[in-house]
Amino acid sequence: MPADPLHRKLLQRTDALLGEFTEALTEYARVPTISAHGAAFEEGAAATQKVLERAGAQVRRYTADGGPPVVVGEVESDPARPWVILYNHYDVQPVDPVDEWTSEPFSPQVRDGRIYARGVSDTKGNTVAQALAVRALREEAGHLPVNVRFLVEGEEESGSPHLEALTREHPELFRGAGATIEATARSPDGRPVVALGSKGVASFELEVRTARVDQHSSLAVLVPNAAWRLVAALRTLRRDDGKVLIDGFLDGVDAPDPEMLRYLRRNSFDPARYQDEYGVTSLLVKGSRFVRLRRAYYSPTCTINGLVSGYTGPGSKTVNPAVARAKLDLRLLPGQTAAVARDRLVAHLKARGFEDVQVRASDGFPPASTPVSSPFAQATLRAAKKAYGAPPNVVPWSLGSSTTAYFTRAGTPALEPPGVGNSGSRAHAPNENVRLEDVPPSMLALATLLLGVGTPPAPA
Ligand SMILES: [Zn+2]
Repeated sequence: MPADPLHRKLLQRTDALLGEFTEALTEYARVPTISAHGAAFEEGAAATQKVLERAGAQVRRYTADGGPPVVVGEVESDPARPWVILYNHYDVQPVDPVDEWTSEPFSPQVRDGRIYARGVSDTKGNTVAQALAVRALREEAGHLPVNVRFLVEGEEESGSPHLEALTREHPELFRGAGATIEATARSPDGRPVVALGSKGVASFELEVRTARVDQHSSLAVLVPNAAWRLVAALRTLRRDDGKVLIDGFLDGVDAPDPEMLRYLRRNSFDPARYQDEYGVTSLLVKGSRFVRLRRAYYSPTCTINGLVSGYTGPGSKTVNPAVARAKLDLRLLPGQTAAVARDRLVAHLKARGFEDVQVRASDGFPPASTPVSSPFAQATLRAAKKAYGAPPNVVPWSLGSSTTAYFTRAGTPALEPPGVGNSGSRAHAPNENVRLEDVPPSMLALATLLLGVGTPPAPA
């Protein structure tokens, strides 16, 4: 078979872009855009604009409902061609615990073939790689086969509280032939990953008060203890192997798609490497690789994110605490909603006599997925295979959450394409990094996807 000359040119070009990628990401990752601290939105939006202008994009800013700027950059080749939307965010997670970073989180450093800084994998590195890939494709192909809209917001790590308002005020921004949502991390064996959606997430704060004031712990013989009370309530929510026990929690969730299960059977997930990466001696679910993957992707979660009561400082304090609080998140599957999850959680606690446990809902994302049979999903799978020379690990959705639903609700197929991250990228954790070797294939995969959407294969 003759080699595809455009593919060969893109292969060389994406390799040659590594220097520019490193320089642009180093500049971008210096901006301390921690949305949880309300920090640097203006600077973050300006830096994003600069990145998108590398792609030749016409950049505009939108705000909805008093939120920070959403940066939209369009590269329009021909209004008759389909639009592809590339969604990312310019905000990042907080950097704590800062002592565990080898170099400063906002002073990017290249060491041993990796760039280290907060946000390089989640997800500023993907924005930079995609901008350069769009430019490379336009220049090497002579024109863009699609129209591209970058949509980069500043509050994803805080649950994108203003994005839903933007979908109402500017629904046209969310409509296209397909949308990529951030990007996945590469598997340890080098295979790319395509996630056809994302789980949802709903966050809660639980609080229980058992007395007006804390007491001397000798009074624990008579006065109830808030910490024990909250622990007893939490204990009813989840089995030790991770199965969520909230009454009726899975109502409305469909059985797994048999085709997706076939993809999971072929997945190269390696539980031993996973244990190694996180320094754990065993995983919650026992059984074959497939059994574990099926449980991971087709189960919701109930996770205690934090737990506080009484005294936790140095030395001892013999106190019987009056108040206990926990932060909890529930990862949701398509078919579940945050509002129903909250109602089920409250009803579950009440049915077990825990009506004194107050439940407050905070932020979250709805779950969403795109069928593997959709043309955009198929184009992504073909592009990943061609760019990496190996079949992708295809999963029904990512285990984490993002803004996928805001696109699928507008009728736009949305998924997570292969990205610059790796399984040791430590997103949200100290020493976040991307490996330089993962950058060119992710750019090549995106360019190949855009080509595939612009010139779909002839029917067989
Ligand atoms: Zn994140």
